[in-house]
Amino acid sequence: MLMPRQSPKAKEIAGRIARDRVQKLLVLSENALESGDMELSLRYSTLASKIQSHFRVRPSLRNKVCKKCGVFLLSGVTSSTRLASGGHFIAVKCLVCGTELHKVYKK
Ligand SMILES: [Zn+2]
Repeated sequence: MLMPRQSPKAKEIAGRIARDRVQKLLVLSENALESGDMELSLRYSTLASKIQSHFRVRPSLRNKVCKKCGVFLLSGVTSSTRLASGGHFIAVKCLVCGTELHKVYKK
């Protein structure tokens, strides 16, 4: 059986480029946040989440940006992290808008 040719492959490449770009933007966003430039950080993180919404990106990337206000979630700066009861997931709270998201806890 022949594998379908162009379209899925092109999609795969586009997805890989998008993932790569998102990852770079998140690094830039984190660096900006660490140097105290909240505005620049927010610009990078919202751009990253815009790209993410067009492509399927792994949950590990998605959890780094607040889905509501788009801020980069840096523990202790823009987010607080706590282990939820039972220890099955981590609750990450955005300190900017107050949205809480849950991360599945993996050892
Ligand atoms: Zn938020």
